[in-house]
Amino acid sequence: MAKNYSIAIDGPAGAGKSTIAKRLAKELNFMYVDTGAMFRTVAYFLDLLGISPKDADGVERYIDELTVEIEYDSDGLQHMIMNGMDVSDDIRTQDISQKASLVAAHGVVRDVLLDMQRSVAKKHNVIMDGRDIGTVVLPKADVKIFLTADPAVRAKRRCDELLAKGEKADLPRILKEIEQRDYQDTNRPIAPLKQAKDAVKVDTSALDIDGVVAAIKKIVEEKIGL
Ligand code: C5P
Repeated sequence: MAKNYSIAIDGPAGAGKSTIAKRLAKELNFMYVDTGAMFRTVAYFLDLLGISPKDADGVERYIDELTVEIEYDSDGLQHMIMNGMDVSDDIRTQDISQKASLVAAHGVVRDVLLDMQRSVAKKHNVIMDGRDIGTVVLPKADVKIFLTADPAVRAKRRCDELLAKGEKADLPRILKEIEQRDYQDTNRPIAPLKQAKDAVKVDTSALDIDGVVAAIKKIVEEKIGL
């Protein structure tokens, strides 16, 4: 069987991981796997049931009633299917972002998703983005990138994104939420957000999307010749 390549992109919220990973996946013809969307789907499911994301007993009791599936449309866009229902749009709220970060601290949730993440990478060439891809999910990934940016820059980007969609955006509040999520994701005991020893750090604070894609393509070419 031919070897499947894997590219891991980790980093804090709003560093541009999904935008960059989607672009690269298209250019390299790899499958893009957004693992944050999986944690968001779990958070959304528990939220519908009225279970607090901090309630370890509740999370453990109900997690078996959830099936999470990933589907791709003809544009290669990832859709999240929760117990047969497409929830791809529902999981994109600020509220679910915060809840996903709390849900992601439970080992039982991480274990279920870890199996899914690894099994996709076994079958396909993948670009997978998340927080623990290079450290835990795919420690042998062919390329590891740690994408980061100044919190103020990340908050501004998120704010502009919301405004462009015609939604309301409160910059100080977004910055506070980003910093809170960074703190939770970095300080949890299981699979915290951190740069893998063999990851290349790319700071996107002063770069535009084309600049970041070009920088990462260069790293990919050097590592695996693609
Ligand atoms: O990347 P995104 O913002 O969609 O992730 C939502 C949350 O899911 C993160 O704040 C993080 O707590 C969690 N997550 C994780 N491990 C991953 C991907 C996401 O813990 N590999």
